[in-house]
Amino acid sequence: MKILVAVKRVIDYNVQIRVKEDGSGVVTDNVKMSTNPPDDNAVEEAVKIKESGKAKEIVAVTVGEEKAQETVRKALAVGADRGILVKASGTIEPLAVAKILQKIVEKEKPDLVFMGKQAIDDDCNQTGQMLAAILNWPQATFASKIDVKENVLEVTREVDEGLETIEVKIPSIVTCDLRLNEPRYASLPNIMKAKKKPLEQIDASELGIDIKPRIEQIKVEEPPKRKAGIKVSSVEELVQKLKNEAKVI
Ligand code: AMP
Repeated sequence: MKILVAVKRVIDYNVQIRVKEDGSGVVTDNVKMSTNPPDDNAVEEAVKIKESGKAKEIVAVTVGEEKAQETVRKALAVGADRGILVKASGTIEPLAVAKILQKIVEKEKPDLVFMGKQAIDDDCNQTGQMLAAILNWPQATFASKIDVKENVLEVTREVDEGLETIEVKIPSIVTCDLRLNEPRYASLPNIMKAKKKPLEQIDASELGIDIKPRIEQIKVEEPPKRKAGIKVSSVEELVQKLKNEAKVI
């Protein structure tokens, strides 16, 4: 079995996001970038499946600028076998990423595609679903447990009501939740070894698809600052304030 894992380079989750003065976006210069957190879970799960003997090869793929290959190298350092960087600059919306991944799926013919449930920069939660629709493959989103069985996957999903367990036929798309596993750290020797693993570069323009953005971003601004709270001395005072000041009851 071959597993393709999609990994995205995003601003590190610990970074305090700053909006550019002209409102054209957020500051990315000299800002720490990392793998989108649930994508680390997707890589970890693929590696665990390979370690259990149920997968033979893991291919990590990213779409982005030249620097995005760092994200692929990280996946290689924790156990992926090969990497692909699809070079594209500017905004690449989920539909464009899904179309690019479709081309990579056609070329690589994986049995499974693992992705993150959501990218923490755009918070779209769309790419996996769009890829499944384009390929007409079954999908299991928000996976918090995956069991590989004969030709099917049993996937436990985190849904609003709690946990839901479904079975999807292979080939399928799985989007991974943070509770799926505990991603391992790359050891220094493995980081060094990853530098020698193959990393193919493909120019998105060679794939013959339209990846132009469909959405025009008009302005990015900071959310309004929260006002300081107050302490009330009694329930009566709270009710009176909710009624007369906040006017919510
Ligand atoms: P989104 O739909 O943007 O929230 O992203 C969901 C998932 O799609 C991410 O967790 C990644 O696994 C994958 N993905 C999105 N954008 C990219 C990209 N540029 N390169 C590789 N994978 C991506």
